[in-house]
Amino acid sequence: MTDENPETKPAGGSPQSVERAAAAEINGRRVNEAIERGAQGTGTAVFVCECGNLGCSETLELAISDYEAVRSGFERFLVVPGHQIEEIEDVVEHHDAYLVVAKRDDRATRMAYATDDRDSG
Ligand SMILES: [Zn+2]
Repeated sequence: MTDENPETKPAGGSPQSVERAAAAEINGRRVNEAIERGAQGTGTAVFVCECGNLGCSETLELAISDYEAVRSGFERFLVVPGHQIEEIEDVVEHHDAYLVVAKRDDRATRMAYATDDRDSG
């Protein structure tokens, strides 16, 4: 439970907040992977917003195929419109109900790679 990050105070910028946001997004992605697996055979499912906001509990209903399209790249995340963090990511797709964002930060992308452990069967 103790999660004390020693404040290393790097000069310039705030990479820690980038990593924190990336960790939150990866957490959302894990939840959504489970949802996606559980929803197989149905047309749509309710996914959670994968934004970097730790307090976010927004959900989005979309087709499984649409979520698969979001997941066509490791750096791409599903977020509720307005939840993008423009400092670290770019909106690459606009949809009526959701946005797809792509990480600009290499570190966040590497974290996403490192934690992407879904097996293909
Ligand atoms: Zn959100």
